[in-house]
Amino acid sequence: MNHELIESLKTLKDVQVVAVSKKRTKEQIEEVAKAGLRVFGENRVQEFIDKYDPAYTWHIIGHLQTNKVKYIIGKVDLIESLDSLKLAKEIEKYAARQDLIQDVLVQIKISNDPMKTGLPYEEAEEFLKSLQAYPHIRVRGFMCVATHTDDMNLVAEEFENMHTLYKSMKTIYPTIDTLSMGMSHDYKIAIEHGANMVRIGTAIFE
Ligand SMILES: *Cc1c(COP(=O)(O)O)cnc(C)c1O
Repeated sequence: MNHELIESLKTLKDVQVVAVSKKRTKEQIEEVAKAGLRVFGENRVQEFIDKYDPAYTWHIIGHLQTNKVKYIIGKVDLIESLDSLKLAKEIEKYAARQDLIQDVLVQIKISNDPMKTGLPYEEAEEFLKSLQAYPHIRVRGFMCVATHTDDMNLVAEEFENMHTLYKSMKTIYPTIDTLSMGMSHDYKIAIEHGANMVRIGTAIFE
């Protein structure tokens, strides 16, 4: 665990740090929580369920299958990876059943990498419009994963495009207040380009 980094992350103003705890043990999570970070991100439902502790705040950050939604509603504070109406429908169903409103981020596929998931950038506006039909879903903003490359100009350009989308949708939907982008290797660039949530795993835990 990188104490020095955690201390510096704690001084960030107006940026929520999500400690990405995938593949880490409960003991490691507890250690990071003791050091002062209490929001954790998991990308697999089974792993999340195994490690879930209501004392902390939890985000789902990985691709979510519709048949797994029922296991996480009521436990997860923010689903960062909403990318289809089919998934939205399922979230609506289980959130309604538990009489709660589920906060979500829409994951946008900003990179050209065919392996990356997320909604195409061009479809974001229409998608947000469609989500208005689901009263138990509250859209808080967007999440993206930039292209994995050493070309930091490309990464910066992708983050800037996301920032543009975020700002314009924020003027239409008052619940939008979160732009989640940036990981261990690119979170500083993300913050420079408007991120107010960063998801950091390796750099915190190793
Ligand atoms: C794993 C993961 C992260 C954290 O990546 P690191 O490089 O370990 O900081 C952030 N976001 C998503 C969606 C991830 O899957």
